Amino acid sequence: MSGWVTVAGLGPGDEALVTDEVRAAIAGATDIVGYIPYVARIAPRDGLTLHPTDNRVELDRANHALDMAAAGRRVVVVSSGDPGVFAMASALFEALETRPDPDASDIRILPGITAMLAAAARLGAPLGHDFCAINLSDNLKPWDLIEHRLRLAAQAGFAMAWYNPRSRSRPHQFARALEILREELPEKTLISFARAVTTPEESIQTVPLAKATPDMADMRTVVIVGTAATRRVGRWVYTPRSAG
Ligand code: SAH
Repeated sequence: MSGWVTVAGLGPGDEALVTDEVRAAIAGATDIVGYIPYVARIAPRDGLTLHPTDNRVELDRANHALDMAAAGRRVVVVSSGDPGVFAMASALFEALETRPDPDASDIRILPGITAMLAAAARLGAPLGHDFCAINLSDNLKPWDLIEHRLRLAAQAGFAMAWYNPRSRSRPHQFARALEILREELPEKTLISFARAVTTPEESIQTVPLAKATPDMADMRTVVIVGTAATRRVGRWVYTPRSAG
């Protein structure tokens, strides 16, 4: 049988949110490649080799997957959430660009439920009008660009989902991100911190911007920033469908 590479999203955590097509791809795989905690979600079985790797080696991982597929293996590269959202699908294509014949590989990308959508569903509908997703990690882009985008997104009235909001190595940057919001948005703007959504460790809180503090987020949190129109109804948080 000829080899293939499938990049699959495992969803935010709950096994019930893994799609049937992702399950089928994993069932048909000979090899699973991915970041250690994501590969840990795959049940070991005979005939399946697990290749967990540390983060920040995305291109090596992608080339490894393409090499194995070229040798006839059936490879699933796993991401959490959706593989196209700050994850392995783009890394695979970056690796593919450096190879002689991009169409020689049999590649499929299988979507998953991304963190911001799982979090939004728990909260109500905070992303019900125009919104954007911003990765606050400065691994692959300068912090100045992140600040610029945050400010313009706030000025443009987008709701926002912030991925990778805060790490131990750059705690001051998240404080700065909140400061930019305070410069651009009313103090009562609702901001939600959704941690480990759909896992047993899930915790979610919503506060007005005036009460938001940097310790409310960590690397397992997706932050949902409301617009001036985002409001509460009972225990829910939602953004109406119309603006202006
Ligand atoms: N591809 C993933 C995102 C990877 S970046 C997706 O589509 O969801 C990793 C970031 O995603 C984390 O820092 C956090 O901001 C967010 N994240 C992933 N899973 C999450 C979960 N279950 N709950 C809250 N945030 C999550």
